[in-house]
Order: sequence, then structure tokens, then C-alpha cells
Amino acid sequence: MHHLLEPTTDSLSPWLAERGYPAYRAGQVRSWVFARRAGSFDDMTDLPRQVRGELAAEFSIFATRIARHSRADDGTQKLLLELADGGRIECVLLVDGPRRTICISSQVGCAMGCVFCASGLDGVERNLTAGEIVEQMLRLQQLLPPDERLSHIVVMGMGEPLANLDAVLAALDVARSDDGLGISARRITISTVGLPAAIRKLAQVGTPYNLAVSLHAPGDELRNELVPVNKNTGLAAILDAADDFFQANGRRLTFEYVLLGDVNDSPRHAQQLVRLLRGRMALVNVIPYNPVAGLSYRTPSKLAVHAFRNVLVDGGLHVKFRQRKGSEIDAACGQLRRLPIVAPSPLAPG
Ligand code: SF4
Repeated sequence: MHHLLEPTTDSLSPWLAERGYPAYRAGQVRSWVFARRAGSFDDMTDLPRQVRGELAAEFSIFATRIARHSRADDGTQKLLLELADGGRIECVLLVDGPRRTICISSQVGCAMGCVFCASGLDGVERNLTAGEIVEQMLRLQQLLPPDERLSHIVVMGMGEPLANLDAVLAALDVARSDDGLGISARRITISTVGLPAAIRKLAQVGTPYNLAVSLHAPGDELRNELVPVNKNTGLAAILDAADDFFQANGRRLTFEYVLLGDVNDSPRHAQQLVRLLRGRMALVNVIPYNPVAGLSYRTPSKLAVHAFRNVLVDGGLHVKFRQRKGSEIDAACGQLRRLPIVAPSPLAPG
């Protein structure tokens, strides 16, 4: 079976041509999948029955199975998807005012080894294909009522997107295109722990994506502990590459900082962070930690969060303290994947 959503191996157009079907059928199929949210070829009622049958025999629209679907009271929904080879990935839909943001994965597992993260606990299994990344977008779009559209994408789920950059970019091309999801690059954020060479490669692409660099520590000593891959690069090289990205595309940088109770949340850490980032056109996004079963890290106290914030603001940094969304459904990346599957989701086909 060919995976219809695989943009790097467009097999539909030659398939239609070989059978003497008009080329515009490819556009019809695409419109059904992306705009009309069809889940099967049977739904594509303006295609001749015979064409639908032949397509269904040789193509699958979706190559994953929904293994679990969770909803939180705040509107957050999370899907655990099982891939054709049995690997599991997670993706999330976040509802915030008019925004419908999706957070998608780029790899099965993650090699970066951040010590507080469930996704990295078992290392990386493999890169996702572009089609598997697109599929997360469509699966999440299907959760929306018909009159709502996806508005923003963050590539911040499981995996390091810049370690699978070609597939991520191919999938985002589909997300941006008018006959795909039509989401502007300015509403798409790629998150990285900081791979300098790949940040520069992304800058050269020239598409105005937003870049978010996950710092989690204001200096190399602590960062080497929390984000072990930092030992290979160091903060200075990462910030140099991020500055080059800003020079190249003019998009304000975001620095993510997961606030871990009694680890990186003291006023001293905040002062160090101010010294590190002052003068940059950047937003510092601070995320109080969401506890992960089996890991000893804690949510910071309200007092510590407040004091941390005051130091950043007084230091002139532009800051945002993100609310923890969907915490009752383990929405932090990698947590759902580790739970045993007890029953198939009501949304799961088959
Ligand atoms: S926080 Fe992100 S980069 Fe770090 S291990 Fe988890 S998924 Fe990988």
C-alpha cells in the first residue's frame, strides 16, 4: 500500500496517468483529504465508484491507528498514534481563544536525553516520515468541529525536529500550501534543543518559520546535566546560530525554559538568564514543569515562579509564563506513550 500523505513520493499522479484517469482527480482527492477531512476514499462522492475502489485497494490515507484519545477539561485533546511498524507517537490539539494550535512529533522517541522528559527516556527509535508528520496534522484537524480550522503548528512534540529536518520541512510545505492546510509559516514554530548546523540550514531555507530554542538552564554547567547533548555544543555556539537565524529571517526568537522545582528556578538562575539573553529580540517562554511518572523532578512553588518572573521582567526580558494545559491527560510530550494501552479509543478505526 502507498501512503497517500507521503509528499516526498507523490505516487498518485503517475498512478492516475497510468490508468488513463484525468490528472484533475489528484486535486479532487487532495481537496477531500485536506479541506473536507475525508477519512476514506468512500467519502469522495464526486469520484467514480470504480476509481474510489481502485484507490482504496492501493492507497491508504492514514497509515496510523489511534491507540488512545484523551480530552482535558480545558479543551486540550491528545492522541497516541500507533505507526505501521508498531512505534508510538503523540500529538496534541490546544484550544486557546480563537487559536487552534497543534503540537506534533518529529521522531519516535528522542536522542537528546533531556533528563526531565518522558520522550527521551528510551532514546530514539527512528525518524518519522514526512507523511507521518502530515498525518498527525490531519488526525488532529478531524477533532475540530467542521466550522473550525487549525491556526498554528508547533513542532515541539516527541523528538528533535532539527535532527529530522528534511522530513519536517517537507511536511510543513504541505501544511503551508493552499491546497494543503493553508497555514502561514509565521504561525508555525520549530522547536530545538539547539543543533547549530541545522539551525543555520533552516535559516538558509528562507521560509519565515519561528524558531524556539529550549534552554532550560542559563549556563553550560547546569545545562550539561539537564540537556546532555549540550556537552557537544555549548550555549555560546547555540546562541550564535540562533542570532544568525534572526539576522537571516528577522523573526523574533523564542527561548523555552522549563522551570524545575529547586533545580533551575532560583533568583540566581534568573539573573544568569537575564545576563545571557539581554539585548536580544526574543521572548522567554517559561513553562512550570509538569511532573512525569518515574522521574523525580517537581513543579516549582508559586513563590519561586513569582520571584523568577520578577527578576526576568526587572532585567528587561520579554517574558511569557505559559499555563500548564491538559495536565490531567499527561499532555507533556512522551507521557501518554508510556502508559499501558488498556482499551482502544472510541475514535480508533477498526
Ligand atoms: S524535551 Fe524535547 S529534545 Fe528533550 S528529550 Fe524531550 S523530546 Fe527530546
